[in-house]
Amino acid sequence: MILESRVPTAQFAINQYVPELPEVETVRLTLTPILNSTVTKVGGSGKTLRQKPVKIRAMKNHFVGQKISKIRRRGKYLTLHIGTSYAVVHLGMSGRLRIQDVRTELDQHCHVWFLVSKGRQEKRLVFRAPRRFGQFEFFKAQEVCPALEKLGPDPLLDGVSLGDSLKNRKAKIKTVLLDQKVLAGVGNIYASEALWRAKILPETPACDLQPSQVRALNKAVARSLEVALDKGGTSLKDFVAADGQEGGNAPYLKVYGRQGDSCPRAACRGTIHSAPVAGRSTYWCNRCQI
Ligand SMILES: [Zn+2]
Repeated sequence: MILESRVPTAQFAINQYVPELPEVETVRLTLTPILNSTVTKVGGSGKTLRQKPVKIRAMKNHFVGQKISKIRRRGKYLTLHIGTSYAVVHLGMSGRLRIQDVRTELDQHCHVWFLVSKGRQEKRLVFRAPRRFGQFEFFKAQEVCPALEKLGPDPLLDGVSLGDSLKNRKAKIKTVLLDQKVLAGVGNIYASEALWRAKILPETPACDLQPSQVRALNKAVARSLEVALDKGGTSLKDFVAADGQEGGNAPYLKVYGRQGDSCPRAACRGTIHSAPVAGRSTYWCNRCQI
């Protein structure tokens, strides 16, 4: 299922692309084959990720001989629970977490890998991140991951209920949607998509939204994520699932990357515009979003 992705018009958008909730959830789902596998070997490049050393030795000590019992996601983070410890993974801008054949060659961008076995089957779980903007952090059972602690509700796990978090927020609604403390997992693509669905201009101050607009936005966020997840996420640049397949959602994006196109809403004769909001490429219809 490798679909032709539509390339966004703005190069900026591609370079800034970070996998969001639907992409990370797709990785989680496609990691299912290694659940209950035993980690038999741990290796790494020795390079830092996000300027932090990767604790390969600790992972060797705590993971080898242990089973991968749970693979969870919260926001854009994955947690791999192995024995009594766990690893937290963030794909960053170019990270890929893949299950590969053990004969697949490792290159200089493969920063963490586990050999895993289940019965006679042996596979390799590989974290590859050419820009080293991703994260692969080890934690002992009793240790808390600070990044996970700071996350707000996850739309898929907790539902979307933005009302209270928007009160008194004078920031633009697009900026607030990107705030992971407000909603964990929404990023640049789905913020634009949700605001189009809810007919709200990205620059509207969050506290100015009417209750009916907030209700529409709650539904729109959930819907935008559901549609993308159903298609296996959006592959604009580097994103692939753990099985190597690209996501099929790019052709179904309503506004993201569609600057200059007609609005896809029936009966709206507007045009999709693009400009940076919150420092990131933002797309909206000049007619139906108010
Ligand atoms: Zn429109």
